[in-house]
Amino acid sequence: AEKAYQFMIRSRIPGGALTADQYLVQDDLSERYGNHTMRITTRQSFQLHGILKGNIHATINEINKSLLSTLAACGDVNRNVMACPAPVSSRAQAQIQEIAHKLAMHLAPKSSAYHEIWLDGEKVASSEEPEVVVEPMYGTTYLPRKFKVGVLYPGDNCIDAFTQDIAFIARVEDEQLVGFTAVIGGGMGATHGKKETFPRLGNPLADVSVDQVLKVAETIITVQRDYGDRTNRRHARMKYVVEERGIPWFRQQVEERLGYQLSDPSEVHFHDVDHHLGWHQQHDGNWFLGLHIENGRLRDTETLQLKSGLRTVIKEFRPNIRLTAQQNILLIDIPKEQRAAIEARLQGFGIETDAEAIGAYRYAMACPALPTCGLAVAEAERALPGVVKQLEANLQELGLDGEKISFRMTGCPNGCARPYMGDVGFVGRSRDLYNVHVGGDWQNTRLNTIYAQNVNVKDIPSVLSPLFTLWRDEREAGEGFGDFCHRIGVEQLKERAAAQPVT
Ligand code: SF4
Repeated sequence: AEKAYQFMIRSRIPGGALTADQYLVQDDLSERYGNHTMRITTRQSFQLHGILKGNIHATINEINKSLLSTLAACGDVNRNVMACPAPVSSRAQAQIQEIAHKLAMHLAPKSSAYHEIWLDGEKVASSEEPEVVVEPMYGTTYLPRKFKVGVLYPGDNCIDAFTQDIAFIARVEDEQLVGFTAVIGGGMGATHGKKETFPRLGNPLADVSVDQVLKVAETIITVQRDYGDRTNRRHARMKYVVEERGIPWFRQQVEERLGYQLSDPSEVHFHDVDHHLGWHQQHDGNWFLGLHIENGRLRDTETLQLKSGLRTVIKEFRPNIRLTAQQNILLIDIPKEQRAAIEARLQGFGIETDAEAIGAYRYAMACPALPTCGLAVAEAERALPGVVKQLEANLQELGLDGEKISFRMTGCPNGCARPYMGDVGFVGRSRDLYNVHVGGDWQNTRLNTIYAQNVNVKDIPSVLSPLFTLWRDEREAGEGFGDFCHRIGVEQLKERAAAQPVT
């Protein structure tokens, strides 16, 4: 008999924006065909796990009927376009969501044949027989590898600009969107033991006007289509073209294809990463509520009816929904008079509505890893909560509770939860063993550095605690944990940690 393979189906949800109905379709499919959970991804979409082969077509058809799509959520094409999900401040912010949507449509494959089914990261089937089509942008060969685009509001790096193939960072003057600074060549994935692979931060390429964005994005993609490495998939992302050929070469390629010169890039500053949790007022007077979802996993347990609680509230109050890059969920467009009722209803299901009460896990995220990701060599989603709990206890003992520290864990070096950014990263090496990275920054503008290799998961707290102590005793005013580790440097940190009395 054929093995009962279970498949993952991911939707394309630009900017993580969906209606109450679209949310409820995903919830319904996960109950009918999936494993009764839904996973918010780090790229603001939904993954459904545990779909049996015989149910794939029905699942994809129903997602399509809901006017979402699975098209270009996987494969060697442009993936889900990310955007700051918060509907907070102004017309400019709304425009950013609109542009993310337009980019998603503009960069999507034009052929509906590009509906592919993926198992363990490999393409195993197409949902229709591919017609031979020449895609206007992708040609007949698509791209050497997946491609990632994001759009940001200035100052808030909530979608990790420097990890995208292209990030368009808005330039806003007097509340008016005047254009974007394009940053290119970022990417997280690496392979252990392959030095031609590495995580890389994007570099500023040029400033572009609002009208130029679609064409410039398309043109950048054609450069990667023509020059990306098609001989080695591990070395096929655009970041390697940018690294090896340089920004001046890349810009010249883009300008030649466009037929005009681009403006030099403006300087990019990020002062924060806003997780958008808790209640906030929107520019239209309505409110939104950001709810923390541990690792983006929506499911019911004995103590917490997260999935059915959200389903009930979304059915009854019909808010619009936004998924965030930290795998959290925003209920948006809520009239003031519904606030108390929504909060009470959520709390009745055990759902925490007060972001301050979440503790150290508020800024943590893990990829799915075992058992659903076939590339995983170590645990992530199932391991990180326990690790952070112990670290939180250590921080409390040191009087450091309530400090903002980002923790990210992945079950392999592919880096889906972006573990090479942020204060502390754990990258799975093999069962129970992790490389521990420190020295990134809160704003996610710097890569972190390997501090210790092959650390057993149960030893992680004793590896990090001496660093917390040093930070407490020696940090400069307001200095974050990652910034402190970066200033001291990993070699010094190792020496100093070893010299500490064992407690
Ligand atoms: Fe799978 Fe996690 Fe590796 Fe991504 S980082 S491929 S989800 S194990």
